[in-house]
Amino acid sequence: MTIWNLGSINADMVYDLPHLPAPGETLAAHGLDRFLGGKGANMSVAAARAGSRVSHIGAVGHDGRWAKDRLTEYGVDTRYISEVDLPTGHAIIAVDAEGENLIILYPGANHALDVSHLGQALSSASTGDLLILQNETNAQVEAAQFGRKLGLTVCYAAAPFQAQAVQAVLPYLDFLILNEIEAEQLRQETGMGAADLPVRHVIVTLGAKGARYLQQGNDPVEFSAHKVQAVDTTGAGDTFTGYVLAGMDRGMPMEQAILQANRAAALMVTRHGTADVIPDLREVRDATF
Ligand code: ADP
Repeated sequence: MTIWNLGSINADMVYDLPHLPAPGETLAAHGLDRFLGGKGANMSVAAARAGSRVSHIGAVGHDGRWAKDRLTEYGVDTRYISEVDLPTGHAIIAVDAEGENLIILYPGANHALDVSHLGQALSSASTGDLLILQNETNAQVEAAQFGRKLGLTVCYAAAPFQAQAVQAVLPYLDFLILNEIEAEQLRQETGMGAADLPVRHVIVTLGAKGARYLQQGNDPVEFSAHKVQAVDTTGAGDTFTGYVLAGMDRGMPMEQAILQANRAAALMVTRHGTADVIPDLREVRDATF
């Protein structure tokens, strides 16, 4: 089966600075690194590293061929990533000597996907394939509707959180994943607790506390996190999601998919970086926690 991911692709530009700039200040950076990022790209890489066939649907600008190449290198099918007349989405990340950061996010091409292009990509999907969406692209509702109509398992990672976006895709979802903060925002803004949602499978990730699985009609199941020395939690949730999807894709019971995702995400937080350092299945199996 194939995992279809309508997802963001970003260049994460990380500038090392002596301190964060004040308004009006001009400051020279003493280092620059460019990483592949974006929740969508991270999830595609995680699911591919976990051994699944992943087809990424999205858009980059003419400056984004390297990002497509990087995804290809990581085993992701990039034929449905179109090139549009807007810059590739990027994050300008300023980091000071203490590790404190300041981020400017420019969605760019991620918001310029043509809906007809999406329809064309999904016309190659087969019943039973998985479709994953997040909230960093346009056309999520159209994708969820197409997905439902085609008999795909429609999954949504509610990040970055926006109550309206969740409510718009909710009727089409088989699986929703959100972190603890997003679950609380959902409760405050809509009055719906994660356990009350009309979705068959819901996972709430709980950072260093692990994850909670809510299957409609069953009692919640808690999973503790592995005890590790966390150095960078960026991309932990995306890695977790990618590994859960890969487990579902392989027909694993959800509990087993979560156990694997929990291991992958624990390993991920011991590493600096995002898409480029997501562990593969062998590393996840071999990890000794
Ligand atoms: P997000 O990155 O979306 O905010 P979380 O912070 O909830 O998501 O983390 C996702 C998953 O990553 C957790 O469910 C857990 O499996 C793992 N994880 C996160 N932080 C830690 C940690 N400090 N130690 C071990 N595992 C962690």
